[in-house]
Amino acid sequence: MERTFAIIKPDAVERKLAGQILARIEENGFTIAGMKKIQLTRKQAEGFYCVHSERPFFNDLCAFMSRSPVIVLCLEKENAIADWRTLMGATNPANAEPGTIRKDFAVNIEENSSHGSDAPETAAFEIPYFFSALELV
Ligand code: UDP
Ligand code: MG
Repeated sequence: MERTFAIIKPDAVERKLAGQILARIEENGFTIAGMKKIQLTRKQAEGFYCVHSERPFFNDLCAFMSRSPVIVLCLEKENAIADWRTLMGATNPANAEPGTIRKDFAVNIEENSSHGSDAPETAAFEIPYFFSALELV
């Protein structure tokens, strides 16, 4: 069993797509080990995306991620990290495979509805950024 970290981003929560995204998560064999709705502060968004701090999209990304609530999730499954990335689709919805969350729901490359850890080391940073061990079951 592997755990990954996921976010249903502000654009999706605002458009009331959380239920449809959660249904896809469960239909695809993931177990929800942890879930909560929170609104990130600007500083919390900057800390979460610190690996991107030198990228040109960093400021806009942090403003977007803190503008309204998100749903943060810890998902469990064999091969959870890679399988959740596959289910989300490419970062830019224009390049995402048909049937993926980003193809079906994303607004554009920034407002792309979902986040997923890209490697075990990333998941090991991201999961405890939002969840204590006692919140994961
Ligand atoms: N992003 C953006 N412009 C870009 C690339 C990324 O606004 O050119 C945003 C987008 O919301 C993306 C996030 O920054 O999901 C993190 O980028 P990353 O390259 O890590 O993509 P992801 O891992 O989310 O597919
Ligand atoms: Mg990434």
